[in-house]
Amino acid sequence: MEFRNIFIEKRSFKTLITSAVEVYNRETNGALLGRNAIRKIKGRKMKVISIKEVYPFQTEKRRPSEVIHGNISAFKRVLRAVESLQTEIIGGYHSHPYPYGYVGLSEGDVVSIKEDIDVMIKIGQERIKNGWVEILLSIKRKDYRRPSKIKWYICDYEKKLRVRIRTEEKTGYDILVSAYWVYPKEEFGKKPIKDMKFGVKEVAVYVPWIFE
Ligand SMILES: [Zn+2]
Repeated sequence: MEFRNIFIEKRSFKTLITSAVEVYNRETNGALLGRNAIRKIKGRKMKVISIKEVYPFQTEKRRPSEVIHGNISAFKRVLRAVESLQTEIIGGYHSHPYPYGYVGLSEGDVVSIKEDIDVMIKIGQERIKNGWVEILLSIKRKDYRRPSKIKWYICDYEKKLRVRIRTEEKTGYDILVSAYWVYPKEEFGKKPIKDMKFGVKEVAVYVPWIFE
């Protein structure tokens, strides 16, 4: 297994942040479209996955603690449309609104990712067997005493990114962005995907702004 770090292109990053803010304090979710790329990171060339597009689902049932596919045939239509448009779904994203407890994927998240992988393989999208990329947005609303003109800023941690964005002078959102590979620990084809063991590995998230 190759666990590449995740490079989120500017437009994709803006869509991720906006879709998490839009539905707060419910969860958002959607698909990630991307491909392997080489990017210069901290002075050296690195093999990464570049997130080229983000597609927020419109057919999900959203609740504060979970997102479930409202409509599996709609998910299949998205997969097939994306394929016809000659791009590729490489994973997904969702948000955990505050109080999210800890930052990371839940057991339920892995179960629903396995279901998505199952659907993709059934319609012949086999590349996903190499692993699924999941971006998690842990989001909390913040109320400030002092009004500010600052629109937004990013802090770069070792793997995660923190985004603070103001939506009003005294209101904003604190969003911790993290990325994971969800990958099979056994061979496909020997048992149903839902019974297979999968691992979760956190990787680093990069955005172009932190290099400017
Ligand atoms: Zn989750």
